[in-house]
Amino acid sequence: MKYHLITLGCQMNISDSERVKTVVEGMGFKWTDNEEEASLLGIIACSVRQKSIDKVYARIRKWNKRKDRESIITFISGCVLPADKKKFLKTFDLIFPMNELLLFPKMIREYGIVTPASLQKSNKGELVEPANEVNDFKLTSIIEKKAKLNSDDIHLAINAKDVDINEFWDIVPDYNSDFEAFIPIQNGCDKFCTYCAVPYTRGREVSRPSGEIIDELKTLVDKGYKSITLLGQNVNSYGLDKKGEEISFAELLHEIGKYGDETGKDFWLYFTSPHPRDMGNDVIDAIASYKCIAKQIHLPLQSGDDEILEKMNRKHKLEDYRQIVNYIREKLPQASLFTDIIVGFTGETEEQFENSRRAIEEFKFNMAYVAIYSPRPGAVSARWDDDIPMRVKKERLHKLGDELKIHSYKYNQQFKDKDVRVLVTGVEKRSGYLSAYTETKIPVRIYSKDKSMIGQFVSIKTTAVTDFSFAGEIIDNE
Ligand code: SF4
Repeated sequence: MKYHLITLGCQMNISDSERVKTVVEGMGFKWTDNEEEASLLGIIACSVRQKSIDKVYARIRKWNKRKDRESIITFISGCVLPADKKKFLKTFDLIFPMNELLLFPKMIREYGIVTPASLQKSNKGELVEPANEVNDFKLTSIIEKKAKLNSDDIHLAINAKDVDINEFWDIVPDYNSDFEAFIPIQNGCDKFCTYCAVPYTRGREVSRPSGEIIDELKTLVDKGYKSITLLGQNVNSYGLDKKGEEISFAELLHEIGKYGDETGKDFWLYFTSPHPRDMGNDVIDAIASYKCIAKQIHLPLQSGDDEILEKMNRKHKLEDYRQIVNYIREKLPQASLFTDIIVGFTGETEEQFENSRRAIEEFKFNMAYVAIYSPRPGAVSARWDDDIPMRVKKERLHKLGDELKIHSYKYNQQFKDKDVRVLVTGVEKRSGYLSAYTETKIPVRIYSKDKSMIGQFVSIKTTAVTDFSFAGEIIDNE
């Protein structure tokens, strides 16, 4: 029995899919790259853009055509808007929220598929289907279970309400890499930015117990992982939902930093993404205190204009952001600063856009992920007029790109002909090169074919610097 899984969207979905793989493989399914030979087909969905939703429909139409001649099961999980859930219910066999992943084997069994993991041992030691299967089926939140017209298929739709996300976090992920890993530290979001649908798809913020996060981190470090990223929609509001019963994000960084110092283990710790609203000096102080906490900060700005920020419901002003950056520059002069910016948000005037360009000029970001605004189904701003023509949005995107290059190139220049420590991550498409990045997450191209260095820290001498990257030669293979 083979399975194929398509993961759309952000790093959080990629991280979730690592736990999905654990559960599916625990049922006896084996991964296949070729979806045509899979009998279990799933999508970890993203509702951020209409394009992603269109991809889901295209895929399920294709898969459902196979049902005339083959017995296959399809499922969807991840970020699904309530309105889409009803539509997907008509096309997918199973739809469930990620926090009910542990129940997936039972859903499959209920569906009529017998997998090795769904069987129990009889008194004689033979594998048999468990008795009392349905009573044992603790799906407290099934909201609908119905026979499809014209077929015997059973659809299960499950509501995320009242389900404990902690059980999901307990699943040991089947990590995609053996030297880089994400650790989810929270789920959901309480911020309700007007352009974003995440609070409606993932629900309110829930922090994962700090003990579990630190245990997962120690296990990864013991296995030799070199780059670990704490993941959440608003990592720096970590713990706030527990109202004093959990440590804060800064305290979590201190715990990890102390572990790194005490053990002398060699790894870089990153986190993404923090929100400017919750970015206290204590977080920056914690980053500055420990060698293992990488000196790279990704702090989304979204707009350099206060009126647009208010319209986006970001609940911070440009001046607040400025204060944070000033403190970062004071405490972490060597740090790189990344951001996210949206251009062409509803009603954005030329002057308001200029304020975003000026913000790049002032804060001298190393990288800005600039997105052209498009209404996201389910988000508040989707009800507003998307009134900036695409031509203008594209012009603004290019202008920000040009501004960004100036500052990123200047920053990179200081590393020309210098020795830099990098983590080798893979093979470049262009033959003869390996890919890597610095602690500050500047991409590096190394002149080498030695694949044995993938997953290792090495020292290079930079031979060239470009707008957003370095090239170099290895001087020391650690
Ligand atoms: S902070 Fe805003 S953009 Fe980020 S997930 Fe929450 S609502 Fe979406």
